[in-house]
Parts: sequence; C-alpha cells; structure tokens
Amino acid sequence: MARKTTRKVKRKTRTIARRGLMLVLSSPSGAGKTTLSRMLLKADSSVELSVSVTTRPRRANEKHGRDYRFIQRSQFDRMVQNGELLEWAEVFGNFYGTPRAPVERALAAGRDVLFDIDWQGTQQLREKARGEMASIFVLPPSIPELERRLRARALDAERVIRGRMAKAVDELSHWAEYDYVIVNDDVARAFAAVKQILAAERLKRERQTGLSSFVRDLQAKL
Ligand code: 5GP
Repeated sequence: MARKTTRKVKRKTRTIARRGLMLVLSSPSGAGKTTLSRMLLKADSSVELSVSVTTRPRRANEKHGRDYRFIQRSQFDRMVQNGELLEWAEVFGNFYGTPRAPVERALAAGRDVLFDIDWQGTQQLREKARGEMASIFVLPPSIPELERRLRARALDAERVIRGRMAKAVDELSHWAEYDYVIVNDDVARAFAAVKQILAAERLKRERQTGLSSFVRDLQAKL
C-alpha cells in the first residue's frame, strides 16, 4: 500500500507594515482612564505613552518622566512659542501639553501612541491628525461612584476634589465628540473593550501601509 506522504507547508507569519495610530483616552478625573492606560501599556509593547509636560506640582505617587515632565511656566511658554507642543490646554489652573517630537518618531516607526488628555487637547489633535487618531471616552457608572473614586485616591485636598467634581460635569458634556464610549463599571470589561477597539483600529485599511505591495505580490503569484 502506498504510503501517504504529507507535505509540510511551512507557514510564515507575515507582518504587514503599518503606520502607528494615536489612541486618545479621555474622561472626567476618577473615571478610571489612568488605570486603563497603565493596563494597556503593560499588556501591549507596541503602545507607548505620550508623556505630557505640565506646570502642575508633582503628586507623591508620580515620577518625573514617567507620569509627566514637571516644568516651570516659563519653559512651558517657550515650548508653545517654539511649536514644540502638538496641543496644549489649561486644566484646573495648570497648563498641560503634548510634546510633538516623540509622537512623530513613534508613529513613523509603526508604534501606537496613547494619550491621556482632556477634551480640549483631543479637539486640537483631531484637527491636526484626523485620520491617524482614534478617541475613546470613559464614563463613570454614576456620579456618586466618581466622587467615591476621587476621594479614595485621597491625593488631593478637599478644595481640589470639589473643583474636580465641578469640572467632571463640564468634561462629561463632551462625550459625543469621541469615536468610542466605554462605561467603566467593571475595569476588566472596560479594558477588554479598549483592546478590541485598538485591534480593530490597527486593521483599518488606510493604516496598513504595506497592504498594496502585499496584494501586488499575491496577484503576481496567481
Ligand atoms: P491630572 O492633573 O489629574 O493628572 O490631569 C488633569 C487633566 O488634564 C486630565 O483630564 C488629563 O487627561 C488632562 N491632561 C493631561 N495631560 C494633558 C495634555 O498634555 N494635554 C491636555 N490637553 N490635557 C492633558
């Protein structure tokens, strides 16, 4: 009896070149966006965080260069004047901005950049980077829960917490300007949603810059 020969076809996993995308996460303070950002950075090595500059004082649990670059107002103004910031905004009386150079470097290298910025920054980024950006708004499950989370952090003075609660109302009103909205009542579920959004956005045709040559290769072998 003839022996059946099975020819092993070696499968190569093919990576198609793509341009990185800008993933924006916004929410009122306390809705869980920082937790979600940290989870994503840990889980996906193709994503890097855009580290903002800020004139706000550093909190005890924050590290210069990891959470923010804490700078003086005079330096911030210089960066604005020299066009070194992709966007900037005043939030709670402090200034925050996104340095341009690291973002451009990462995108060109096919890496994705995560932005933890407010609605004002998102609007500015959208104007500059329309097709390259995907934006997610994170909603808290309820206002009492938002307040509880802000207090549980116990990082800010009562006056600041009151201010943040008032600002939350303003921030919430911008939810409809975002591409995706997630209600963060369960952090594992919210994180799964963030990963799904990222996976789908990466597959968008226009982001896969290597597709035309890949398809040309396929057609040549027909
Ligand atoms: P926090 O002081 O709690 O770290 O941040 C206050 C708010 O400023 C948050 O809504 C945060 O997303 C926003 N923020 C942080 N960095 C930037 C930035 O570079 N640009 C803008 N527009 N907002 C920022």
